Amino acid sequence: MARVGFIGLGNMGGPMAANLRAAGHEVTAYDVLPQARDAARVQGHAIAFDPPAAVKGAEIVITMLPAGADVLAVYAQALGVARPGTLWIDCSTIDVASARAAHEAAHAAGMESLDAPVSGGVAGAAAATLTFMAGGGEGEFARARPVLAAMGNRIIHCGGPGSGQAAKICNNLILGISMIAVSEAFVLAERLGLAPQPLFDVVSSSSGQCWSLANCCPVPGLVAASPASHGFKPGFAARLMLKDLRLAAAAETGEAPGLAASAAALYDRFVASGHGDEDFSAIIKLIRAAAAGTPIRPAEISCNDP
Ligand code: NAD
Repeated sequence: MARVGFIGLGNMGGPMAANLRAAGHEVTAYDVLPQARDAARVQGHAIAFDPPAAVKGAEIVITMLPAGADVLAVYAQALGVARPGTLWIDCSTIDVASARAAHEAAHAAGMESLDAPVSGGVAGAAAATLTFMAGGGEGEFARARPVLAAMGNRIIHCGGPGSGQAAKICNNLILGISMIAVSEAFVLAERLGLAPQPLFDVVSSSSGQCWSLANCCPVPGLVAASPASHGFKPGFAARLMLKDLRLAAAAETGEAPGLAASAAALYDRFVASGHGDEDFSAIIKLIRAAAAGTPIRPAEISCNDP
Protein backbone atom coordinates (compact mmCIF):
# COMPACT_ATOMS: atom_id res chain seq x y z
CA MET A 1 0.00 0.00 0.00
CA ALA A 2 1.25 3.50 -0.83
CA ARG A 3 1.41 6.85 0.92
CA VAL A 4 -0.53 9.14 -1.46
CA GLY A 5 -0.71 12.93 -1.51
CA PHE A 6 -4.03 13.85 -3.22
CA ILE A 7 -4.62 17.43 -4.45
CA GLY A 8 -8.03 18.52 -5.79
CA LEU A 9 -11.05 17.05 -3.97
CA GLY A 10 -13.96 18.16 -6.17
CA ASN A 11 -16.72 16.15 -7.85
CA MET A 12 -14.14 13.65 -9.14
CA GLY A 13 -11.19 13.92 -6.77
CA GLY A 14 -13.34 13.52 -3.62
CA PRO A 15 -14.67 10.05 -4.46
CA MET A 16 -11.37 8.98 -6.08
CA ALA A 17 -9.48 9.76 -2.86
CA ALA A 18 -12.16 7.90 -0.88
CA ASN A 19 -11.66 4.79 -3.03
CA LEU A 20 -7.89 4.95 -2.54
CA ARG A 21 -8.40 4.97 1.20
CA ALA A 22 -10.98 2.17 1.00
CA ALA A 23 -8.35 0.08 -0.84
CA GLY A 24 -5.92 0.57 2.05
CA HIS A 25 -3.75 3.43 0.78
CA GLU A 26 -2.78 6.18 3.19
CA VAL A 27 -4.10 9.49 1.83
CA THR A 28 -3.02 13.03 2.74
CA ALA A 29 -5.53 15.33 1.04
CA TYR A 30 -5.52 18.99 0.05
CA ASP A 31 -8.00 21.28 -1.71
CA VAL A 32 -7.96 25.06 -1.88
CA LEU A 33 -11.60 25.11 -0.68
CA PRO A 34 -12.13 24.70 3.09
CA GLN A 35 -15.43 22.81 2.59
CA ALA A 36 -13.68 20.23 0.39
CA ARG A 37 -11.03 19.76 3.09
CA ASP A 38 -13.80 19.36 5.69
CA ALA A 39 -15.47 16.64 3.59
CA ALA A 40 -12.10 14.88 3.21
CA ARG A 41 -11.57 14.99 6.97
CA VAL A 42 -14.95 13.30 7.47
CA GLN A 43 -13.82 10.57 5.04
CA GLY A 44 -10.86 9.90 7.33
CA HIS A 45 -7.99 11.36 5.28
CA ALA A 46 -5.11 13.25 6.84
CA ILE A 47 -5.59 16.90 5.81
CA ALA A 48 -2.87 19.19 4.43
CA PHE A 49 -3.25 22.97 4.35
CA ASP A 50 -1.11 23.60 1.28
CA PRO A 51 0.29 21.52 -1.62
CA PRO A 52 3.82 21.14 -0.13
CA ALA A 53 2.33 19.62 3.05
CA ALA A 54 0.29 17.18 0.93
CA VAL A 55 3.31 15.85 -0.99
CA LYS A 56 5.87 15.76 1.82
CA GLY A 57 6.66 12.10 2.57
CA ALA A 58 4.36 10.82 -0.20
CA GLU A 59 5.41 7.97 -2.51
CA ILE A 60 2.76 8.95 -5.04
CA VAL A 61 1.14 12.34 -5.70
CA ILE A 62 -2.20 12.57 -7.54
CA THR A 63 -3.66 15.83 -8.83
CA MET A 64 -7.31 16.22 -9.97
CA LEU A 65 -7.64 19.91 -10.82
CA PRO A 66 -9.70 22.00 -13.23
CA ALA A 67 -7.12 23.13 -15.82
CA GLY A 68 -3.48 23.14 -16.96
CA ALA A 69 -2.62 26.39 -15.16
CA ASP A 70 -3.81 24.87 -11.85
CA VAL A 71 -1.69 21.76 -12.35
CA LEU A 72 1.44 23.73 -13.27
CA ALA A 73 0.93 26.05 -10.29
CA VAL A 74 0.68 23.12 -7.87
CA TYR A 75 3.74 21.45 -9.43
CA ALA A 76 5.72 24.72 -9.12
CA GLN A 77 4.72 25.02 -5.46
CA ALA A 78 5.33 21.45 -4.38
CA LEU A 79 7.86 19.59 -6.60
CA GLY A 80 10.78 20.94 -4.59
CA VAL A 81 9.39 19.46 -1.37
CA ALA A 82 8.72 15.89 -2.57
CA ARG A 83 11.20 13.05 -2.12
CA PRO A 84 13.21 12.30 -5.28
CA GLY A 85 11.64 9.40 -7.16
CA THR A 86 8.09 10.23 -6.08
CA LEU A 87 5.60 9.35 -8.85
CA TRP A 88 3.39 12.32 -9.85
CA ILE A 89 0.16 11.34 -11.58
CA ASP A 90 -2.00 14.10 -13.03
CA CYS A 91 -5.57 12.85 -13.57
CA SER A 92 -7.04 16.26 -14.54
CA THR A 93 -8.12 16.92 -18.13
CA ILE A 94 -5.68 19.55 -19.43
CA ASP A 95 -4.08 20.65 -22.68
CA VAL A 96 -1.29 18.49 -24.08
CA ALA A 97 1.31 21.31 -23.94
CA SER A 98 0.69 21.87 -20.22
CA ALA A 99 0.79 18.12 -19.61
CA ARG A 100 4.18 17.89 -21.32
CA ALA A 101 5.41 20.92 -19.34
CA ALA A 102 4.30 19.18 -16.13
CA HIS A 103 6.22 16.03 -17.15
CA GLU A 104 9.34 18.10 -17.87
CA ALA A 105 9.13 19.95 -14.54
CA ALA A 106 8.67 16.67 -12.66
CA HIS A 107 11.55 14.93 -14.42
CA ALA A 108 13.83 17.96 -13.94
CA ALA A 109 13.10 17.74 -10.20
CA GLY A 110 14.07 14.04 -10.13
CA MET A 111 10.48 12.72 -10.03
CA GLU A 112 8.61 10.13 -12.09
CA SER A 113 5.58 11.39 -13.99
CA LEU A 114 2.39 10.19 -15.70
CA ASP A 115 -0.57 11.99 -17.24
CA ALA A 116 -3.65 9.84 -16.56
CA PRO A 117 -6.94 11.62 -17.30
CA VAL A 118 -10.13 9.69 -16.78
CA SER A 119 -13.44 8.86 -18.37
CA GLY A 120 -16.54 7.63 -16.55
CA GLY A 121 -17.81 10.74 -14.78
CA VAL A 122 -18.78 11.15 -11.14
CA ALA A 123 -20.65 7.83 -11.16
CA GLY A 124 -17.49 6.05 -12.32
CA ALA A 125 -15.42 7.94 -9.76
CA ALA A 126 -17.77 6.85 -6.96
CA ALA A 127 -17.97 3.24 -8.13
CA ALA A 128 -14.20 2.94 -8.85
CA THR A 129 -14.99 2.06 -12.47
CA LEU A 130 -13.11 4.89 -14.21
CA THR A 131 -11.15 4.39 -17.40
CA PHE A 132 -7.62 5.80 -17.12
CA MET A 133 -5.73 6.81 -20.28
CA ALA A 134 -2.09 7.18 -19.41
CA GLY A 135 0.90 8.92 -21.00
CA GLY A 136 4.47 8.37 -19.83
CA GLY A 137 7.22 5.77 -19.66
CA GLU A 138 6.61 2.02 -19.36
CA GLY A 139 8.14 1.92 -15.87
CA GLU A 140 6.08 4.87 -14.65
CA PHE A 141 2.93 3.26 -16.03
CA ALA A 142 3.71 -0.09 -14.36
CA ARG A 143 4.31 1.65 -11.03
CA ALA A 144 1.05 3.63 -11.27
CA ARG A 145 -1.16 0.71 -12.30
CA PRO A 146 -1.93 -0.79 -8.83
CA VAL A 147 -2.86 2.64 -7.45
CA LEU A 148 -5.04 3.51 -10.45
CA ALA A 149 -6.70 0.09 -10.13
CA ALA A 150 -8.18 1.22 -6.80
CA MET A 151 -10.10 3.93 -8.68
CA GLY A 152 -10.88 2.37 -12.05
CA ASN A 153 -11.23 -0.84 -14.00
CA ARG A 154 -9.76 0.06 -17.41
CA ILE A 155 -6.17 1.34 -17.43
CA ILE A 156 -4.74 1.96 -20.89
CA HIS A 157 -1.18 3.02 -21.70
CA CYS A 158 -1.56 5.38 -24.68
CA GLY A 159 2.13 6.25 -25.27
CA GLY A 160 4.68 8.82 -24.13
CA PRO A 161 4.16 12.05 -22.14
CA GLY A 162 0.89 13.83 -23.06
CA SER A 163 -0.62 10.80 -24.88
CA GLY A 164 -3.25 10.27 -22.19
CA GLN A 165 -4.41 13.87 -22.56
CA ALA A 166 -4.48 13.52 -26.34
CA ALA A 167 -6.76 10.46 -26.01
CA LYS A 168 -8.98 12.27 -23.52
CA ILE A 169 -9.41 15.35 -25.71
CA CYS A 170 -10.29 13.17 -28.72
CA ASN A 171 -12.83 11.20 -26.64
CA ASN A 172 -14.49 14.34 -25.33
CA LEU A 173 -14.63 15.85 -28.81
CA ILE A 174 -16.77 12.84 -29.78
CA LEU A 175 -18.82 13.16 -26.58
CA GLY A 176 -19.54 16.89 -27.00
CA ILE A 177 -20.51 16.56 -30.65
CA SER A 178 -22.63 13.45 -30.04
CA MET A 179 -24.52 15.24 -27.24
CA ILE A 180 -25.27 18.14 -29.58
CA ALA A 181 -26.42 15.66 -32.25
CA VAL A 182 -28.68 13.76 -29.83
CA SER A 183 -30.15 17.03 -28.54
CA GLU A 184 -30.74 18.34 -32.05
CA ALA A 185 -32.48 15.07 -32.98
CA PHE A 186 -34.93 15.30 -30.05
CA VAL A 187 -35.69 18.94 -30.87
CA LEU A 188 -36.21 18.04 -34.53
CA ALA A 189 -38.50 15.18 -33.47
CA GLU A 190 -40.62 17.64 -31.45
CA ARG A 191 -40.95 19.80 -34.57
CA LEU A 192 -41.95 16.78 -36.66
CA GLY A 193 -44.57 15.65 -34.12
CA LEU A 194 -42.62 12.59 -32.96
CA ALA A 195 -42.74 11.88 -29.20
CA PRO A 196 -39.45 11.44 -27.31
CA GLN A 197 -40.09 7.86 -26.10
CA PRO A 198 -40.48 6.21 -29.52
CA LEU A 199 -37.48 8.15 -30.83
CA PHE A 200 -35.44 6.92 -27.86
CA ASP A 201 -36.63 3.33 -28.39
CA VAL A 202 -35.79 3.39 -32.10
CA VAL A 203 -32.37 5.05 -31.84
CA SER A 204 -31.36 2.90 -28.86
CA SER A 205 -31.46 -0.14 -31.14
CA SER A 206 -30.41 1.59 -34.36
CA SER A 207 -27.22 3.02 -35.83
CA GLY A 208 -27.60 6.35 -34.00
CA GLN A 209 -27.08 4.64 -30.64
CA CYS A 210 -24.32 6.25 -28.52
CA TRP A 211 -23.24 6.94 -24.93
CA SER A 212 -24.85 10.39 -24.93
CA LEU A 213 -28.23 8.83 -25.67
CA ALA A 214 -27.98 5.66 -23.58
CA ASN A 215 -26.41 7.08 -20.40
CA CYS A 216 -26.92 10.81 -20.49
CA CYS A 217 -30.11 11.31 -22.50
CA PRO A 218 -30.87 15.07 -22.52
CA VAL A 219 -34.66 14.60 -22.35
CA PRO A 220 -35.87 14.09 -18.76
CA GLY A 221 -37.60 10.84 -17.81
CA LEU A 222 -36.21 8.55 -20.52
CA VAL A 223 -33.09 7.38 -18.62
CA ALA A 224 -33.65 7.26 -14.86
CA ALA A 225 -30.01 7.97 -13.91
CA SER A 226 -29.34 10.70 -16.49
CA PRO A 227 -28.67 14.25 -15.20
CA ALA A 228 -31.68 15.45 -17.25
CA SER A 229 -33.91 13.35 -15.00
CA HIS A 230 -32.41 15.15 -11.97
CA GLY A 231 -32.70 18.83 -12.90
CA PHE A 232 -29.48 18.70 -14.96
CA LYS A 233 -27.32 18.48 -11.84
CA PRO A 234 -23.84 17.38 -13.02
CA GLY A 235 -22.49 14.88 -13.89
CA PHE A 236 -20.06 16.63 -16.11
CA ALA A 237 -20.48 20.39 -15.95
CA ALA A 238 -21.04 22.31 -19.21
CA ARG A 239 -18.12 24.63 -18.33
CA LEU A 240 -15.79 21.60 -18.30
CA MET A 241 -17.11 20.37 -21.64
CA LEU A 242 -16.47 23.86 -23.04
CA LYS A 243 -12.90 23.67 -21.74
CA ASP A 244 -12.34 20.31 -23.44
CA LEU A 245 -13.89 21.37 -26.76
CA ARG A 246 -11.70 24.47 -26.75
CA LEU A 247 -8.66 22.24 -26.22
CA ALA A 248 -9.71 20.10 -29.19
CA ALA A 249 -10.46 23.14 -31.38
CA ALA A 250 -7.11 24.72 -30.51
CA ALA A 251 -5.27 21.51 -31.38
CA GLU A 252 -6.95 21.17 -34.78
CA THR A 253 -5.10 22.73 -37.69
CA GLY A 254 -5.61 23.02 -41.43
CA GLU A 255 -7.85 24.97 -43.72
CA ALA A 256 -11.06 22.96 -43.31
CA PRO A 257 -12.37 23.73 -39.82
CA GLY A 258 -13.63 20.66 -37.98
CA LEU A 259 -16.72 20.42 -35.82
CA ALA A 260 -14.70 21.07 -32.64
CA ALA A 261 -14.82 24.85 -33.17
CA SER A 262 -18.58 24.84 -33.90
CA ALA A 263 -19.32 22.67 -30.88
CA ALA A 264 -17.13 24.87 -28.68
CA ALA A 265 -18.95 27.99 -29.95
CA LEU A 266 -22.31 26.44 -28.99
CA TYR A 267 -21.11 25.54 -25.48
CA ASP A 268 -19.51 28.99 -25.20
CA ARG A 269 -22.94 30.62 -25.75
CA PHE A 270 -24.54 28.20 -23.31
CA VAL A 271 -22.00 28.83 -20.54
CA ALA A 272 -22.04 32.61 -21.19
CA SER A 273 -25.82 32.57 -20.64
CA GLY A 274 -25.31 31.31 -17.07
CA HIS A 275 -25.62 27.54 -17.56
CA GLY A 276 -21.98 26.54 -16.96
CA ASP A 277 -22.68 24.60 -13.77
CA GLU A 278 -25.47 22.50 -15.29
CA ASP A 279 -24.67 19.12 -16.79
CA PHE A 280 -23.40 19.34 -20.37
CA SER A 281 -26.54 17.53 -21.58
CA ALA A 282 -28.50 20.70 -20.73
CA ILE A 283 -27.21 22.04 -24.07
CA ILE A 284 -30.59 20.82 -25.38
CA LYS A 285 -32.08 23.97 -23.81
CA LEU A 286 -30.00 26.20 -26.07
CA ILE A 287 -30.76 24.09 -29.12
CA ARG A 288 -34.51 24.11 -28.33
CA ALA A 289 -34.53 27.86 -27.73
CA ALA A 290 -32.57 28.52 -30.94
CA ALA A 291 -34.99 26.33 -32.93
CA ALA A 292 -37.96 28.25 -31.49
CA GLY A 293 -36.26 31.64 -31.94
CA THR A 294 -36.73 32.42 -28.22
CA PRO A 295 -34.23 33.35 -25.50
CA ILE A 296 -32.86 30.50 -23.38
CA ARG A 297 -34.50 30.16 -19.94
CA PRO A 298 -32.41 30.86 -16.79
CA ALA A 299 -30.26 28.09 -15.32
CA GLU A 300 -31.80 25.65 -12.82
CA ILE A 301 -28.42 25.32 -11.09
CA SER A 302 -26.35 28.33 -10.14
CA CYS A 303 -22.64 28.67 -9.33
CA ASN A 304 -23.63 29.02 -5.68
CA ASP A 305 -25.37 25.66 -5.43
CA PRO A 306 -23.46 23.02 -3.43
P1 NAD B 1 -14.34 20.31 -9.68
O1 NAD B 1 -14.38 21.73 -10.08
O2 NAD B 1 -15.52 19.67 -9.02
O3 NAD B 1 -13.07 20.01 -8.71
C1 NAD B 1 -11.81 20.63 -8.82
C2 NAD B 1 -11.29 20.86 -7.42
O4 NAD B 1 -9.97 21.39 -7.50
C3 NAD B 1 -12.12 21.86 -6.63
O5 NAD B 1 -12.51 21.29 -5.39
C4 NAD B 1 -11.20 23.05 -6.46
O6 NAD B 1 -11.41 23.74 -5.23
C5 NAD B 1 -9.85 22.38 -6.49
N1 NAD B 1 -8.74 23.27 -6.84
C6 NAD B 1 -8.68 24.18 -7.83
N2 NAD B 1 -7.46 24.76 -7.86
C7 NAD B 1 -6.75 24.20 -6.84
C8 NAD B 1 -5.44 24.36 -6.36
N3 NAD B 1 -4.60 25.24 -6.92
N4 NAD B 1 -5.04 23.60 -5.31
C9 NAD B 1 -5.88 22.69 -4.75
N5 NAD B 1 -7.15 22.50 -5.18
C10 NAD B 1 -7.57 23.23 -6.21
O7 NAD B 1 -13.96 19.50 -11.01
P2 NAD B 1 -14.15 17.94 -11.28
O8 NAD B 1 -15.48 17.71 -11.89
O9 NAD B 1 -13.72 17.18 -10.06
O10 NAD B 1 -13.06 17.75 -12.44
C11 NAD B 1 -11.67 17.74 -12.16
C12 NAD B 1 -10.95 17.41 -13.47
O11 NAD B 1 -11.41 16.15 -13.99
C13 NAD B 1 -11.19 18.46 -14.55
O12 NAD B 1 -9.99 18.63 -15.29
C14 NAD B 1 -12.26 17.80 -15.42
O13 NAD B 1 -12.23 18.26 -16.75
C15 NAD B 1 -11.91 16.34 -15.30
N6 NAD B 1 -13.03 15.40 -15.48
C16 NAD B 1 -14.25 15.62 -14.90
C17 NAD B 1 -15.28 14.69 -15.10
C18 NAD B 1 -16.65 14.90 -14.47
O14 NAD B 1 -17.58 14.16 -14.85
N7 NAD B 1 -16.83 15.84 -13.56
C19 NAD B 1 -15.06 13.54 -15.86
C20 NAD B 1 -13.80 13.32 -16.40
C21 NAD B 1 -12.79 14.26 -16.20
